[in-house]
Amino acid sequence: MSKSKYGLNTICTHVGEIKDEQFKGAVSPIYLSTSYQFDEVDVKRYPRYFNTPNQEYLSKKIAALEHSEAAMIFGSGMAAISTTFLAFLKKGDHIVVQNTLYGGTSNFIKEEFHKYGIEYTFTDGYEVADFEAAIQANTKLIHIETPSNPLLTITDIKGVADLAKSKGILTTIDNTFASPVNQNPIDFGIDIVIHSATKYLAGHSDILAGAVACSNAHKEIIWNVAKNLGGSLSDFTVWMLERSMKTLALRVKAQNRNAKKLAKYLSEHEDVNKVFYPGLKSHPQYDLAKSQMKGFGGMLSFELTEGLDASQFQKALKLIKPSGSLAGVESTMLSPHKTSHALLSSEERKAIGISDNLIRFSVGIESKPDLIEDIEQAVAKVKATKLQTQE
Ligand code: PLP
Repeated sequence: MSKSKYGLNTICTHVGEIKDEQFKGAVSPIYLSTSYQFDEVDVKRYPRYFNTPNQEYLSKKIAALEHSEAAMIFGSGMAAISTTFLAFLKKGDHIVVQNTLYGGTSNFIKEEFHKYGIEYTFTDGYEVADFEAAIQANTKLIHIETPSNPLLTITDIKGVADLAKSKGILTTIDNTFASPVNQNPIDFGIDIVIHSATKYLAGHSDILAGAVACSNAHKEIIWNVAKNLGGSLSDFTVWMLERSMKTLALRVKAQNRNAKKLAKYLSEHEDVNKVFYPGLKSHPQYDLAKSQMKGFGGMLSFELTEGLDASQFQKALKLIKPSGSLAGVESTMLSPHKTSHALLSSEERKAIGISDNLIRFSVGIESKPDLIEDIEQAVAKVKATKLQTQE
């Protein structure tokens, strides 16, 4: 673990800046070259080698935020996830994967791994014992996601890391939902932290990117595969990501505050059946969440009471956008069964607790009363429609 001497907001603002030596500008210049001098230099730079100046410097910010030695930036979260898995797994190896996780990751494993001869087991649950039960003699990797998408279950990061270490197994975590502001898994013994940087790191719903944070030795292994798979990010977008990340801690802390208040409001609402938010004392893993998270995050899920249609409710919203993806400064809601988990069969969804009535709420930075007013008017509209159809 290597910790920056700077505080969180200073890391976000300044670590990984490229000094504009020529014109003394306040922000990092963008280096768009795909062609760099090849002789008399130590580093052969090329965008697909993940080592242009903008990629190299922004990696320092991500590493400082995740308390890691090194980091890499990818063209998407899935590029980061798939490259990392393929870097550490080969024919005959086995991976243990948490059962409640982002649908795209599950889909990648189910659709691609058999082509490489890689075996996998999805755990029955998210307790450490569930991971232990799934380990085989050829297990090389354990992958977790906490808080999970979309049910916000909490996995014991240290528990899984300790278990894996005791058996010489590598660990990866998808830290997208928490962001490095709320959770630093490397401090709990996880080897490799992965992000869909499309989400909180970018934060404005206008950048697709991914990131990996780990040791120098693990980065070397990932890099050797990454340069062959070619999932690097354009330098213009790297620069955009650097700019966006200057406000990462400010944004995420505002989202933490809003989400906590909205979760409480929804949990007391007569038309809401269930709320899933790790910052609610009623969450079955509140104590565990508190022990490993610095903030509870901006994501929550809830179910409307029976008979209130989740799709109609989302269509009736005026301010909150019913839209895919998450973690932007604007609030969004979606139905996981139609979006992030549409690739799973309805039986698979049911088995992991995702009902068709579940709504995932990515809480933005808007004023709380405006979000509440929007929810109230949408609920009222859906109830009125229900009454009309009954008449
Ligand atoms: N991990 C999580 C938790 C996600 O929510 C997503 C996307 O929604 C991904 C990974 C994949 O990231 P990307 O869409 O940037 O490829």
